[in-house]
Parts: sequence; C-alpha cells; structure tokens
Amino acid sequence: MKKLALHWRILIGMALGVAFALLVTQFPWGKQFVIDWIKPFGNIFINALKVIAIPLILGSLISGIADLNNLTQLSKMGIRTISLYILTTVIAVSLGLVIVNVVRPGAAISEGTRAQLVSSYEKQAGDRITAAEKQKQSGPLKALEDLIPENIVAAASSNGNMLQVIVFAIFFGLGLILIPPDKAGPVKGFFAGLNEVILKMIDLIMLAAPFGVFALLAAIVAEAPGTDLFVALLWYGFSVVFGLALLYCFYILLVYVFARRSPSFFLKGIIPAQLLAFSTSSSAATLPVTMERVEEHLGVDPDVASFVLPIGATVNMDGTSLYQAVAAVFIAQAFGMDLSLGVQLGIIVTATLASIGSAAVPGAGMVMLVIVLAQAGIPEVGLALIFAIDRPLDMCRTTINVTGDATVAMIVAKALGKLGDPHEKKWDERLDEVIGE
Ligand code: ASP
Repeated sequence: MKKLALHWRILIGMALGVAFALLVTQFPWGKQFVIDWIKPFGNIFINALKVIAIPLILGSLISGIADLNNLTQLSKMGIRTISLYILTTVIAVSLGLVIVNVVRPGAAISEGTRAQLVSSYEKQAGDRITAAEKQKQSGPLKALEDLIPENIVAAASSNGNMLQVIVFAIFFGLGLILIPPDKAGPVKGFFAGLNEVILKMIDLIMLAAPFGVFALLAAIVAEAPGTDLFVALLWYGFSVVFGLALLYCFYILLVYVFARRSPSFFLKGIIPAQLLAFSTSSSAATLPVTMERVEEHLGVDPDVASFVLPIGATVNMDGTSLYQAVAAVFIAQAFGMDLSLGVQLGIIVTATLASIGSAAVPGAGMVMLVIVLAQAGIPEVGLALIFAIDRPLDMCRTTINVTGDATVAMIVAKALGKLGDPHEKKWDERLDEVIGE
C-alpha cells in the first residue's frame, strides 16, 4: 500500500490531537488526563529533537567548513548570510509597523477590557518583565562577549548556548582547514560520520512525528486559557497573522526570483519542518528537521545548509520581529498613546536586535518584547494585554522564523552555485529503509 506523504501524516496527527483534546476536555477528568497521560509523549518527542541539536551543529558545521577548503568561500557565505538575515528582519519589522498603523487594533480595546486584561494577566506579565530585566542590566557589548565560550563542554551542555557552540564549531573548522591534509583527514572523517549518524537519527525520530504532534497539540488545546477575552484581541491577532502571511508570500517570491525554484517545490520540501515549528513553537527543536529538509528535499548543499541554518535558528527570527513591532504599537494604542515617527523608527532598530537576542524556544519573543517596550517608552505592564493569545501567535511566528531561514539558505546556495537537485527519496522508501521490510 502506498504510504501517505510525511506532511499529511503530521497534519492528520495534529488534527486528531486537537479533536481528541476537545472531546476529552468535555469530561471533568479530561484536562488532567491529557496533562498526565498525553502531554509527556509530546515532551519526549521534543526532547528527542533537542538532544541531537548540539551534536548536529558540531558534526555538520565542522565538516561543512572543513569541506570548503578555503577561507574566501567562507567569508563570501558569511557576508551573504548575515546581510540577508538583517535585511529580511528589517523588512519584517517595517511590514509589521505598516500593518499595525493601518489596522489600528489597539483602538478596538475599551478601557474596561484593558483593565480586565491587565488584572487577569498581571502576574504572568510580571514574570516576563523580571526575566527581561536580567538581560537589560548587562552592558552594551555583553552579547558580543557572550559569543565566545570559556569552556566548550559547559557551552555544549545547554541548548541555550547554541550560538557559542556555533562559534566554536566555526573556529574548529577553520583550524581544520589550516592544518596539513594528512592530519586533518581522520578528524574530518569523524565529523562527517557523526553528521551521517545524526541525520539517520532524525529519520528515526520523524517516524514518531505524527504521534509527537498529536500529543503536543492535545496538550496545547487542553491547557488553553478561557476564550472570553479572545474577542477583544481578535484584531491584534489578525494583524500579526496577516503580517506573517504576507511575509510568507514574500519568501516564496524571493525563492522564485533569486533561487529559481517554484513555490510548490519550496513548500513541498519545507512543509514538515513548518508543521513541526508550528507544533513545538521552537526553532531550535525544529532545527534538525529543517536541516534535513533543506539538504535532502530542497537541494541545498550541506556545506551551505550546515552554516546558514544553525545560525538562522538562533539569530534570524523574522516572524518574531514582526510580532514584536505589531505588539509594541498595539499596546501603545490600547493605552491611548500616539507614537511619533521617530519612536517607530526606533522600534525598527530595537525589534531587529530583540529578535536576534530572542532564544529559539517557546515564548522567548515575548520576553524580549519588554526591551522594545521600554525603549519606546510604552508601559511594560501592557504585556498583560497580549498574554491570552500569545501561544497561538508563537506557533505562527515560529513557522515563519523557520521558513525565513530556509529561504535564505536557498538564496545563498544559489548565489554560490551550491543549489542542486534534491537527492530526495520518497518517504515510503526511507521508511522501508529505516524499519526494514
Ligand atoms: N518561539 C520562537 C522561536 O523559537 C521565538 C519567539 O518566541 O518568538 O522561533
């Protein structure tokens, strides 16, 4: 029997998860049942993805850079990648600002609703503000200082330090290029092999993806807060989602114009990673799958994918930056503040930097939003206004974050002559290969 394509399996898993949670939460014991007996399987699935993130970065980045063989290629790739990341982020923030100024979602919030929202979510907002305070207290060059780990084992022991591991891997790869080939050979071989093993592990984990997303979505639905305040936030949610949808079309256009690949080719290749990003709300947890899809299904050379994608997962968050711009102005509107052009231009800078600084984990964009608010003189307690619908918006913005990384990977690969035909195997072939006939 012909097996369903992977993205259909994942979509069915998601739909069943939602339906299951809606059904069982009708019973008084339903919510607790999902939390106790279903949610842990979602956590197991996310952990299985996360556990391979650091070895994947080390294996793929070191062997990718060592394969480049010279430093000019590396600097060409580096400059293109960083420029495209910054450019797309600035475009995303600007798009968010235009939309929020046209739609004016904050004007739809009455004073009563505002007070109700603030009192309902004050505590949660306070927690995020405290978390952001810690980041704010550090000096202007702290982010740069933090790039260099003082101990690689310590750095590699936390997914929060991915950027440090990336810097170490690039540095190590450079060393490998510069030593004699007979000495470099075995080390290169080791990391190339490690990379292969990790890619195979991703195949195995993906076998469980439909079940993993079932559990994740069931838990999200069961734990969702009440919907009574949703209506007030409808226009705000619409502004974010509309902006993200436009950004999505923009990526498709970029891929078409600069990488010469059709929208259907791009979407078919990347959709499983998008669905996982949506289900997990974490670019970092999705990274292994993004890499596998981009290399094997979109035809990006592993040298490019292994450099562009891990950096993108940690610093390039276009969806997050658009959301931060919309949210900041929405909160200002709800408090009856009129933001001058100068302040809004300032938001372009702070939201760009805040999205770079956001960790690739659920809810991180909201913590960094505090910094955008503070810079623009908007009351931080306004965070309470947007709390009720942050999770669904996080799911959407993470999907866009991952799509943005894949877009840049394709454009950089094309520019360097490293975009080939995908060596895609049909999903059922891969499945048979993994589980055996
Ligand atoms: N969850 C997002 C990500 O992992 C970050 C955010 O909160 O916006 O990409």
